[in-house]
Amino acid sequence: MAASDLAMFDKPQQKDLDRCVHCGLCLNSCPTYRELGIEMDSPRGRIYQMNQVAQGLAEIGPSYIQHIDLCLACRGCETACPSGVQYGRLVEAARAEIETKIQRPWYQRLGRDLVFRRLLPSPTLLRVAGAILGLGEVTGLQWLIRKSGILKRFGRLEQIEKLAPPVEFPSFFRQYGRNFPAAGERRYRVALLGGCIANISFARLNEATVRVLQKNGCEVVVPDGQTCCGALHVHAGIRDQARKQARQNIDALLAGGFDAIITNAAGCGSTLKEYHELFEHDPDYAERSRQFSRLMKDVTEFLAGIDLVPPTIPIGKTVTYQDSCHLAHGQKIRSQPRKLLKAIPGLTFKEMPGSDICCGSAGIYNVVNNEMAMEILEKKMASVNRTGADVIATANPGCMIQLRAGVCQHGGGQPVRHVIELLDEAYS
Ligand code: SF4
Ligand code: SF4
Repeated sequence: MAASDLAMFDKPQQKDLDRCVHCGLCLNSCPTYRELGIEMDSPRGRIYQMNQVAQGLAEIGPSYIQHIDLCLACRGCETACPSGVQYGRLVEAARAEIETKIQRPWYQRLGRDLVFRRLLPSPTLLRVAGAILGLGEVTGLQWLIRKSGILKRFGRLEQIEKLAPPVEFPSFFRQYGRNFPAAGERRYRVALLGGCIANISFARLNEATVRVLQKNGCEVVVPDGQTCCGALHVHAGIRDQARKQARQNIDALLAGGFDAIITNAAGCGSTLKEYHELFEHDPDYAERSRQFSRLMKDVTEFLAGIDLVPPTIPIGKTVTYQDSCHLAHGQKIRSQPRKLLKAIPGLTFKEMPGSDICCGSAGIYNVVNNEMAMEILEKKMASVNRTGADVIATANPGCMIQLRAGVCQHGGGQPVRHVIELLDEAYS
């Protein structure tokens, strides 16, 4: 089906908007409302504005765009809502409508085109970008730029630059097309998605994920032909490109006969499990996207659902866990990562207050809305510090980047680890 035909469905649907009964029970779960106390920056207020636009009572203007853009799309309100409002679906559709109806300034269009349509789906450009950034790190150029203070002259660029994750060599792209045999008897055959930026900045995490799955009787295939899942595109409203990448992933993976398709990135997993929503009006991909979504599993969900091989090496640390929004609210996965952490001998688990409140990462929110993201992060770090934990665990690379920035600014030097990295350590 043509992209232009599908675009006409890319707006909040009245039946979805009508589920909101304006009770306000979601307000306290909303990080932007908690920060600003402004109704228009609450879930209820944003749904009201979407309704006004849908009924032709308000224009898509700067004020509407600002309130919709300031939403983290964390879906905390979705969990709190007793009426079953699918807020994530609404805000993503609202952003898609803005994208198709409003022309952004030329520099924003150029930046979005470069990042979303050229860089993220291209392994070649990601490798080149990784090589350039890596060169900056090893030659000391990055250090020099930071030391010179020149970034202070460009608004919040200094804070934003600190969020850049270090490049890891070699990249995970070199594993594409490989099969990793199960350790011992093969119980499952699974596909692993490498992500986009994760291939160059979380290559060791991806390798740890392969090892942990092998240890648990999985033959792990890293299929060639896979691409960036399109989650960042969906969150930014760029649905035509998201659909293009989704089709590529469905074509590359569905025919493989896998027992499961695995990701270690909660933000990606949420979109991958909702591919069918992108194609609900596309007869060519509607059924195939549903099949694909049914096979998708977060790695913690998959491991907690099988007969886990018990880890044996003790980790004598106190660990707290930050729920990734797209795992807890988007996929309703809360107990599984905790179950895996508690299976590690010697590990003391300490729950933090408000662990399912967003840390401010939210895809690229901490880049485009840095000030708000850092205010939210400061409160998150206060919760982390109250636990006295030695280690912060989470299950999403994006949250790891944000929490590491939080440790630098407000923490006590706690390492930030993916649940799978800790499990890998306990198996090694
Ligand atoms: S998705 Fe998050 S930031 Fe957006 S309205 Fe809901 S709770 Fe607030
Ligand atoms: S989104 Fe749900 S909780 Fe929030 S105001 Fe609407 S019905 Fe109430």
